[in-house]
Amino acid sequence: MKVLDLRCLQDHRFEGWFASEDDFRSQSAQLLIECPCCGDTSISRLPSAPRLNVSGAREPQAAPTAAADGSKAPVEMTMQAAWLRAVQHVLSHTVDVGERFAEEARRIHYGEADERAIRGRATRDEAEALREEGIDVMSLPVPQALKGPVQ
Ligand SMILES: [Zn+2]
Repeated sequence: MKVLDLRCLQDHRFEGWFASEDDFRSQSAQLLIECPCCGDTSISRLPSAPRLNVSGAREPQAAPTAAADGSKAPVEMTMQAAWLRAVQHVLSHTVDVGERFAEEARRIHYGEADERAIRGRATRDEAEALREEGIDVMSLPVPQALKGPVQ
């Protein structure tokens, strides 16, 4: 049994259990490994380094092993397409708070605003400060193709 550190395109990190490295490679090639946070199937393997992601003690999460029922996306889906899909998923599941991102993230963290997924703009310093307060933020470069009015 192999425990591998995995990461999706949105930088969610999780662990997967595999019979062997070959097992991981074949499941990965068939897009059978999904991120437990967002369902992304573009999974890459992290070098095993115990110092990664040290903030907060998190329970290790098993990657759900999808049933081989043939309903998965075709293997030839390019990284680009997978990335666009992942970003689109985020855009459609978050509320745009624009420049108020850091402020809103804090209000949610401290229970002053409703718990919800938000997106917006924050400077590197702001994002860094939020992380130091224990607030989970991630940077998501949005491809040019998806910019513009969001319905
Ligand atoms: Zn993810």
